[in-house]
Amino acid sequence: MKVLVINCGSSSLKYQLIDMDGEKVLCKGLCERIGMESSMITHEANGHKATTPAIFPTHTEAFAEVVKKMTTGEGKCINDVSEIDAIGHRVVHGGEKFKESCLITDEVIETIRELSPLAPLHNPAGILGIEAARKVFGNIPMVAVFDTAFHSTMPPKAYMYAIPYEYYEKYGVRRYGFHGTSHRYVSGRMAELLGEMPHRLITCHLGNGSSLAAIKDGKVVDTSMGFTPLDGIIMGTRCGSIDPSIVSYIANLENLHERGMNRLLNNESGLLGVSGVSSDFRDVLEEAENGNERAQLAADMLEYQLVKLIGSYAAALGGVDAILFTGGIGENAMGLREQVMHDLAYLGVTADLAANNSRGEEVRISGADSKVEVWVVPTNEEIMIARDTAELIK
Ligand code: AMP
Repeated sequence: MKVLVINCGSSSLKYQLIDMDGEKVLCKGLCERIGMESSMITHEANGHKATTPAIFPTHTEAFAEVVKKMTTGEGKCINDVSEIDAIGHRVVHGGEKFKESCLITDEVIETIRELSPLAPLHNPAGILGIEAARKVFGNIPMVAVFDTAFHSTMPPKAYMYAIPYEYYEKYGVRRYGFHGTSHRYVSGRMAELLGEMPHRLITCHLGNGSSLAAIKDGKVVDTSMGFTPLDGIIMGTRCGSIDPSIVSYIANLENLHERGMNRLLNNESGLLGVSGVSSDFRDVLEEAENGNERAQLAADMLEYQLVKLIGSYAAALGGVDAILFTGGIGENAMGLREQVMHDLAYLGVTADLAANNSRGEEVRISGADSKVEVWVVPTNEEIMIARDTAELIK
């Protein structure tokens, strides 16, 4: 069975075609600047990777070009679209309606649309992708996989905010959590690597966006992203948790309204805002090495907040048996991992520094005498989406 995995942004379309027999990636790529000038597609298959200019007024033309790349030329990996058995779409917000992945019907699309106020940037883009795929791929069955779904096991005491209850009832204001597909994949992988699901597990997805999840017996009991992906730990350009009063304080002083404040907190804060250098952790580390104090401060804040959050999740779980790192930063930033393990010595964590000296590999980085297993597990959201899709259409 061949499954096409789709992740649509408002102006982008990421895709991967996976042969479920052996879970082999047949091709992958990215369409960028959809609806703008200078659109382009990067397609990778058969050891060839090429970026070519294209004209993408909408996602429909982008999908048509993806089909062309998959069926012709050097990047050809199928003869015809009829070889694709199903399409799996990443959808950011499933609200309280979608607690697991589901087959896409007209009704499902309507419900995703109704949830758009909760994810105004993301859900409309997901719908654009679903509708364009329907136009290009006709009747191929499609599945929606939600970023929020894995966190739906959180108890109310973890997901409620202490604001008047009516705002939960009227507007759905609560913690939902995101990156669920990644936390689900890596926690499942952890269970495979350890031979059983750890009783108390903390997963740290650290990338441009970052979130932690506290997982008890395979079920999420708390997570750091909240009503939106802005909450939690310091990220590339997102502020993470701040005192909510800061919003009205700065808004008044700077005469900023909703849009301006959203931009400040989502796009101008985090590692970028503190360091003044970059949202990219590699750049921040390099500048810190060169003696830039604000870059060092941003890196220190990430490490400190990580240790603090892991500590609070250890408390929530009543202890911790395993901790894992994933995402671009989690999989690659050896120095950060070493420092975090050092600071978690009070939990009985010891480090295997030789093992920690690795990037992007599945590896145990805690010492043989560590009371807590600490691992690096590279994430693979696409395979999770493909597996759900294959399972649902069977
Ligand atoms: P992601 O969003 O998961 O792709 O992660 C992107 C983040 O990973 C960026 O902040 C990168 O700087 C960071 N990253 C990638 N490679 C490294 C590395 N070798 N050391 C530190 N950070 C890295």
